Amino acid sequence: MSKKVFIGVGHGGTDSGAVKYIVEKEYALKTAFALSEILSKYGVDFKLSRTQDIDTDMDSKVAMCNKYAPDLVVDIHFNAGGGQGFEVYYSRVGGTSKTLANNINTEVKKIMSSRGVKTKLGNGSTDYFAIIRETAAPAVLLEGGFVDTKSDADFIKANYKKLAEAYAKGILKTLGISTAASPAKPILDKTGYKKVDKTIGVLSLKELLLTAKTLGVNKYGMDKNKSFGTGTLNAVNYLLGVWGYQQNGIAGENFIKRLHNEIENKVK
Ligand SMILES: [Zn+2]
Repeated sequence: MSKKVFIGVGHGGTDSGAVKYIVEKEYALKTAFALSEILSKYGVDFKLSRTQDIDTDMDSKVAMCNKYAPDLVVDIHFNAGGGQGFEVYYSRVGGTSKTLANNINTEVKKIMSSRGVKTKLGNGSTDYFAIIRETAAPAVLLEGGFVDTKSDADFIKANYKKLAEAYAKGILKTLGISTAASPAKPILDKTGYKKVDKTIGVLSLKELLLTAKTLGVNKYGMDKNKSFGTGTLNAVNYLLGVWGYQQNGIAGENFIKRLHNEIENKVK
């Protein structure tokens, strides 16, 4: 089963969060979108606490998170009050929350200064932040620089996607997902003609592939018959590779349309 990450998006709607050189709620959402995009490339499921500029009260945010039952929780904020750099809060309990905080901090330090990994206690020595205190899964709260320090705000404006990338790397490392290999390539067709098929449709596909070979689009030749053999497989996988798809050996509707377009472009 896919790993799941709950992404809390700080503030929203009538609550702008901190405001000076940039507006916290706006960059919280931009960063959250960028983060979710990267996570999905690595097959991680995610849920954002909001996807629009709307109010979300803390109780419903926590309830939404616990209902989703994620493996990890991050809450995206930006800082204010005068200061510089990134900081991250983890649970006083430590554990995976602390590991996540450290992993993210290690990545963020590569692109901006850090004030460190911290805990913040409220009444009765419990965690101050509800998103850390009330959620069942290990959680951290991220303060990605100061909206009221111009150099930080300028950095955030220009580099919030890099910040999201650093968050993603820390999250993926904590989940045990390697970022060394590039993310899995997409699949063009899940169903379609494949090896050992023997139909008139296969013959049509092969006629297209042979035309493509004549035009230099495809490298592999094959016998002109109704059988999907090794030659056809090589040609199909070659083209899937060139087009940036997983080489699953299947030529379906999308493959045939794409091949037709490639041929048409050559003939024009
Ligand atoms: Zn905030």
